[in-house]
Amino acid sequence: MEKILIVDDSILQAAQLKTILEDEYEITTAHTAEEGLSLASTENYSLILLDVVMPGMDGFTLLKKLQEEIITQSVPVILITSLTDIENEQYGLILGAVDYVTKPFHARIIKARVNTHVKLYKYRRQIEQQSMTDQLTGIANRRKYEDYSITKWNEAIRLRVPFTICMFDIDRFKVYNDTFGHPAGDKVIEAVAKTAAAHLKRSTDFLARYGGEEFVVILLGDSAEKAFAHLKKIRQEIENLHIPHDPSVSQWVTVSIGGVTVMPQRESSYDSYLKIADTMLYDAKKSGRNRVIWADEKMKQLHEK
Ligand code: GH3
Ligand code: MG
Ligand code: MG
Repeated sequence: MEKILIVDDSILQAAQLKTILEDEYEITTAHTAEEGLSLASTENYSLILLDVVMPGMDGFTLLKKLQEEIITQSVPVILITSLTDIENEQYGLILGAVDYVTKPFHARIIKARVNTHVKLYKYRRQIEQQSMTDQLTGIANRRKYEDYSITKWNEAIRLRVPFTICMFDIDRFKVYNDTFGHPAGDKVIEAVAKTAAAHLKRSTDFLARYGGEEFVVILLGDSAEKAFAHLKKIRQEIENLHIPHDPSVSQWVTVSIGGVTVMPQRESSYDSYLKIADTMLYDAKKSGRNRVIWADEKMKQLHEK
């Protein structure tokens, strides 16, 4: 069931709205704007029904705050109010409300409007989800990665937690394609993504397809040693799939991995660390492939082999 938040200081009014909608939606009610704001920023609602006139913070102010926050700005808000003049209606719509309903309201009209906006919001989320997902592997794509990396980099600076960037790449994959064909190559990319994803399941773990046969991983909170050990395990698990490679190259399909773990500082740039991860990957390729090379805070290197 999709979740709806009702924010209304009148207990009676909120209860009425709840009665109208509770057959089809999971309803939460808040009786102050402050309570509404805190609920909206912690739960995933598909719609907010917002009363305008309330003691303390009013509905317009809450709407403004919801529009400013990344997590709440896309949630549709319908204003419900006894203010029937054009100026207030216009102001609400300019602030970003998707609809404006004046009291007294009719149950069937409320229901119809709510249904429409919840449906539109669902479509929008689906499209957003698709545009952020790699078609072949089902993991995040490059676009999602671009968003995620910068958001998390800034979060790590704020929270003062170690930040890991890691790149990995399938070894001698051109040969694989030449020998077994492109469709077989696609299956390998899928299998590699699936294996890596199975070992990156914490809410702070992130895996994306960076391009072709290259992947990127972002971890938050792990030390260099811990991240290095974790990626060694992933490298081993991929080798353990025992996917036969062209024998002239190697027995099994493998990956090379490069990473870096640092305490991010305000003055340091994300891109410079991405470059270091890429250099570590390049070193892993150069020194024989199927291995992990890592750089720690002091740029001391950790080598698997
Ligand atoms: P290295 O060990 O140095 O990484 O060698 P490599 O052959 O893997 O590297 P190179 O960059 O020369 O070749 C990458 C190959 O990956 C070439 C390309 O055909 C293949 N590739 C890239 N994207 C895809 C894809 O989506 N599907 C398949 N099947 N192959 C792909
Ligand atoms: Mg490769
Ligand atoms: Mg490559």
